[in-house]
Amino acid sequence: MNTPRKADLAGLTIAEIGDALVAQGDPRFHAAQIYRWIHKRGVTDVDRMTDLSRALRARLADRFVVLTPRVAAHDVSEDGTQKFVLELPDGKRIESVFIPDTPAQTFCISTQVGCAMGCAFCLTGKMGLIRHLTAAEIVGQVRVLAGALDLLDKPFNIVLMGMGEPLHNYDETMRALAMLHEPHGLGVSPKRVTLSTVGLVPMLDKLGQEPLMPNLAISLHATTETQRAALVPPTKKYSLASLIEACRRLPLGKRSRITFEYVLLAGVNDSPDDARRLVKLLAGLKAKVNLIPLNAAPGIPFERPSDAAVDRFARILADKQMTVSVRKSRGRDIRAACGQLIVEGGRVPSAAQQLAAVLG
Ligand code: SF4
Repeated sequence: MNTPRKADLAGLTIAEIGDALVAQGDPRFHAAQIYRWIHKRGVTDVDRMTDLSRALRARLADRFVVLTPRVAAHDVSEDGTQKFVLELPDGKRIESVFIPDTPAQTFCISTQVGCAMGCAFCLTGKMGLIRHLTAAEIVGQVRVLAGALDLLDKPFNIVLMGMGEPLHNYDETMRALAMLHEPHGLGVSPKRVTLSTVGLVPMLDKLGQEPLMPNLAISLHATTETQRAALVPPTKKYSLASLIEACRRLPLGKRSRITFEYVLLAGVNDSPDDARRLVKLLAGLKAKVNLIPLNAAPGIPFERPSDAAVDRFARILADKQMTVSVRKSRGRDIRAACGQLIVEGGRVPSAAQQLAAVLG
């Protein structure tokens, strides 16, 4: 006879833990203690939850486990960026990155194993979508990194910019944000979370209705419909014009702005005309632009623009009073920079396997 699989306590909201307690005849109020042990104190062994009675701990251990991604590899870059390869319960692997800039410490978290979007300049996109992550696995990355780096009690930022398109895994991503926000857990405010998306228009509209709306970073990368369809293939379905309209519909707080990410590819989208079109496209939006010069490498048919071309592009935007920054490359020596996250066949591929170009 098959023994029924134990449920994962780390995948339950505080209300669901309460329901489970009530169902087994225990008081609901223990849910907050259990949630705190798992999410705030990083405890994964029910027997170490010492403010619960021995009898309750035994009942919980009979029915539940606390699943946590396992650190399969950990690299530290010369610039302090740290990359964690995490193994999930089914053996699939994902990557999460810690960027230690002060004053903000930032975790870059994955929402899928691989990605279905297939952006022309991204290594993760070359993996295709292997599977969505569960909310428990999304939150689990934060638990593991915060625990390993002794940050469970300190403020940090989260960027959903690792592997995957968060809005393609909408429900689990939103559930994860709610679990991270829970005051008995890590209590991460949505203001400290940035969700990066290629801009799936119906999902953006849905996001605009969420009570816990994170900051938004839209991966734009183009100023014409043809350019964008070539660089971000799935967005053929949603025109650039409809994406910008969806951004205008988003209810932004007084001090919030949407970040537009724009990877600069030499001779493709880095001309003064592109810069001027970008200014026009974003006119009237509360926006800031993050320019990301590509790091060229064999295997990807794009080149990094010259520094002069990057400066010229940035100056055209700044001259029109747009807020613009040029992204500094982080963790390139350990392949932790944007667009560099890739895990193949359950293993991190060697540098030789990763010849394609990446964002810096
Ligand atoms: S850039 Fe983001 S959305 Fe595009 S393929 Fe890579 S991970 Fe997916």
